[in-house]
Amino acid sequence: MSVPIGSKIWNLLFGCRHRELSRAFTNQGETYKVCLKCGAHLPYSWETMTVLPRAKQGRKQAQNVADRRSH
Ligand SMILES: [Zn+2]
Repeated sequence: MSVPIGSKIWNLLFGCRHRELSRAFTNQGETYKVCLKCGAHLPYSWETMTVLPRAKQGRKQAQNVADRRSH
């Protein structure tokens, strides 16, 4: 009930952007932040002091596609 319907619909349509995060938790060797909007656990790095971007994986895949195209 506390989640505004507008943001719920936004999340359904566009996905949550995880912009409102809790502090970092460390649990069983894994450090993560929790999205206050959708509750997702986001891996967090103490080295870079940032949430690890999942886009990295996407970028890798994109590079593979680019490599295939160039060959
Ligand atoms: Zn979220």
